[in-house]
Amino acid sequence: MGNTIKKTVQSALSDAMLALFETSTSPEIDAEVLLGHSLGQSRAWLLTYQEEELDEKQYSEFQRLVDRRKQGEPIAYILGNREFWSLNLNVSPATLIPRPETEILVEVAIEKASLSTKNTLSIADLGTGSGAIALALASELPAAFITAVDQSKEALAVAIQNAETYQLSNVEFISSNWFDGLLEHQFDLICSNPPYIETQDPHLQQGDLRFEPHSALASGPDGFFDLQQIIAKAPHYLNDGGWLILEHGFQQAMRTQTLLEEHGFVNIDTREDYAGHPRITFGQKQLIQAL
Ligand code: GLN
Repeated sequence: MGNTIKKTVQSALSDAMLALFETSTSPEIDAEVLLGHSLGQSRAWLLTYQEEELDEKQYSEFQRLVDRRKQGEPIAYILGNREFWSLNLNVSPATLIPRPETEILVEVAIEKASLSTKNTLSIADLGTGSGAIALALASELPAAFITAVDQSKEALAVAIQNAETYQLSNVEFISSNWFDGLLEHQFDLICSNPPYIETQDPHLQQGDLRFEPHSALASGPDGFFDLQQIIAKAPHYLNDGGWLILEHGFQQAMRTQTLLEEHGFVNIDTREDYAGHPRITFGQKQLIQAL
């Protein structure tokens, strides 16, 4: 009957690259990652076995994944995971896809934690999503206790699963809109990668962002709706000398610094991301000196 066209690793990859050329800025890597995923093989294997033939089931599974990517769906949602820090985290459309620049926030938090003489630091991650910041800190700072907060129960379920995968027990998960559910809590560090994109920003309608939760990305007409709230309320939840560490947009450092100043923070500074954009701003709640 019908001709079955033999598909080798190499021909499947080149077909997929062509198919993804318009949607993706990295069609070659995408094709390799998706084929590796459907075959359960590494990229190195694909390069070594280019002439290996795919059976029909493998090819149709691969086609299905390529079609999803062609529709614009982010690779991380298709695979169901993304690397962050030293962790391979489950992600879902209920969670933001962890970004490399957020690792700088984790670095700053570890730095500030290492300056403390306390044995058990209390740390908050507001808007934890897949748990990226909270779990990176929980794994790096086993003596600390992390409170991870998200208002999305679907996101928290993903974060809890990730904590279980890595058997991280020094972290609790609370469903809360920022500080609303944390009335009894007091922290030494408060970290957050909140939504900070302007609601009207055309990027929200483009590329991977279209598939990510709007509530994790957009924050009012100027992108400051959430940053402003967090900065205003944080002093109440911070111990004296504690730090608030925030991710923000590449044009938002100045105003974030000003807001921190207005709310009494000191030792304010900003770190750049790997692209050289000011990305992480932090400030310290003043230590009340005994007279
Ligand atoms: N850094 C993300 C982006 O611009 C946004 C993440 C966020 O709003 N917290 O794609």
